[in-house]
Amino acid sequence: MPEALIEETKPSDRESSRLAALYSIGILDTPAEPAYDAITRLAADYFEADSAIIAFADETRVWVKSHCGEALRELPRANSIFDMVLTADGPLVIADIRRHPQFQRQKVHLRTQNVVFIAATPVHADGSIVGMLTILRRQSRDVLQENELRTLQNLATMVSSQLELHKLRTDSKRQRTRPSRTASEVPASPSWPRNSDLRRAIDRREFVLHYQPVVELKSLRIVGLEALIRWQHPERGLLSPVDFIPVAEDCGLILPIGDWGLAEACNQIQAWTRENPENGSLRVCVNLSARQFSREGLTDHVESLLQQSGTSSHQLGLEMTESSLIPNMNTATEVLEGLRALGVAISMDDFGTGYSSLSYLHSFPIDVLKIDRSFVGRMTDGDHPLQIVRTIIELARVLGMDVVAEGIETSEQYQLLHQMGCRFGQGYLFARPMPAEQVNTLLQLPGRVLPHSHTLQQNAVAYMA
Ligand code: C2E
Ligand code: MG
Ligand code: MG
Repeated sequence: MPEALIEETKPSDRESSRLAALYSIGILDTPAEPAYDAITRLAADYFEADSAIIAFADETRVWVKSHCGEALRELPRANSIFDMVLTADGPLVIADIRRHPQFQRQKVHLRTQNVVFIAATPVHADGSIVGMLTILRRQSRDVLQENELRTLQNLATMVSSQLELHKLRTDSKRQRTRPSRTASEVPASPSWPRNSDLRRAIDRREFVLHYQPVVELKSLRIVGLEALIRWQHPERGLLSPVDFIPVAEDCGLILPIGDWGLAEACNQIQAWTRENPENGSLRVCVNLSARQFSREGLTDHVESLLQQSGTSSHQLGLEMTESSLIPNMNTATEVLEGLRALGVAISMDDFGTGYSSLSYLHSFPIDVLKIDRSFVGRMTDGDHPLQIVRTIIELARVLGMDVVAEGIETSEQYQLLHQMGCRFGQGYLFARPMPAEQVNTLLQLPGRVLPHSHTLQQNAVAYMA
C-alpha cells in the first residue's frame, strides 16, 4: 500500500465542493432506496464478501445507507476508510488490514470484528466524492483483478446514478408543483382518440404491426425483430403508438388490441418460418402493457396462442417495462416464471429509466435488458451516460442476461457499444421499423447479415429525418 494513500486529508477546495455536492443532491433526506440494497447484495455475492456497504459522509460522520451482511453503524469521519478513499481519490484495496501501517497505528476505525480484506471505491455526485461502496472479508484474498475492480466501480456508478435520478425526481416534482401562470399555458387535454374511435379501429382492422430488426453488433446479423404497433387511420394516416396506446390502456381496450397484436405476431413468425426454415431462429418480441401483464391467465393465453399458430415458444419474446412489474412484485414474479417455463424470453424494456431499476433484477426471471435509447443517445455527450451504459452491460453480464441497446443512430454509438461488450442493438442506423413485406427483403440477405453499406445508408436517412 503506497504511503501516499494514508496521508491525512487536508481541508481543500475539493472538500468544500464535495460537501456542496452532497447537500445539493439532497442525500440527507433521501429515503432508503431499495436499489442500494440490491447493489450491496450484488457486491457481496459477486465478491463472496462477508459484508458490503454503501456509505455517505458529511464533515464529521460516515453513515451507512445500506448494508448486506454484518451491520455497521455510523462512524466518526476522521481516519475512516472513507477518508482514505478521499485521499486516494479512487479505489482502495487492502489485502490484509492487519499489516496495514494505518491500522497498526490504530488510526483506521473499524467497528466490525475480524475484518481482514477491504476494497472500497468512491461514489461520485456532481464530480465530487460523496460516499463509497465497500466490501469487507474476514479472510484475506488477492488484490482485485482489473475486471473485478471495474465491476466494483461500475456498481458504485450505479449508486451515483441513483443519486442523479433522485435529483431529477426532486427537480421535476418541484416543477410539476409550480402553479401555471396563465390559463393559456395549460395544455388542452387531448380529446382524440375517444374510446369509440379505438373500438371502431378494432372492428375495421386498422391496426398494423411494423417490425424493427435487432442485430448482433459483431456480425450485423439480424437475430430478431421487435413488433411495434401502428394505427393506419383512413384520414389521419399512420399513427404512432404513443398517440393511442395510453388511451387504450385507460379504457381497457388495450386487451383486445394486445390480443390482436400477439396473434398477428405469431402468424407472422409462422409465415417467415414457412418462407425459410432458417427464419425459425428469429425471435419476435411483442410489447406488453401493464394492464395486459396484470391480466388473469396471461400465461395460458400466450400458451394457447402459440399452439394455435404452431409457433415455438423460443420464437417469441415479451417486452415489458418495470412499471408493469413493480406494483405487485409477488404476482409479477409468478407470472414471469410461468412465461419463462413456457420458453418465452422476457425483456425488460427501457431499462435504466425507472425508479428502482436495480432492486428487482435479482428476484425477477429476466432474460434480456434493453438499454433505454435516452442513454444511448447521450452516450457521446459525456462520461456519465457512458458510465451508465457500461454499468448496465456489466451488470447484465454478471447476472447472465443479454443486452440490447435501443436507439442506435450513429456509427459512433455503434462502435462504443460494441467495444463495451454490448452484444445486440437496434436503431435507425441498422433499420427503422417497417412493414412485414419490407422485412422479407432483409431476411433474404445472405446469412441475414446487413451489409455495412446498408447501415451507412440508413445512417444518412436517420440524419435527414
Ligand atoms: P419501445 O418498446 O421502447 O420501442 C422502441 C421505440 O423506439 C419505437 O417507437 C421505435 O420506433 C423507436 N426507435 C427505434 N430505433 C430508434 C432510433 O434509432 N431512434 C429513435 N429516435 N427512435 C427509435 P414506437 O414504435 O413509436 O413505439 C413507442 C412505444 O410504444 C414502444 O416503445 C412501446 O412501449 C409502445 N408500443 C409499441 N407497440 C406496442 C404494442 O403492440 N403494445 C403495447 N402495449 N405497446 C406498444
Ligand atoms: Mg419495446
Ligand atoms: Mg424501449
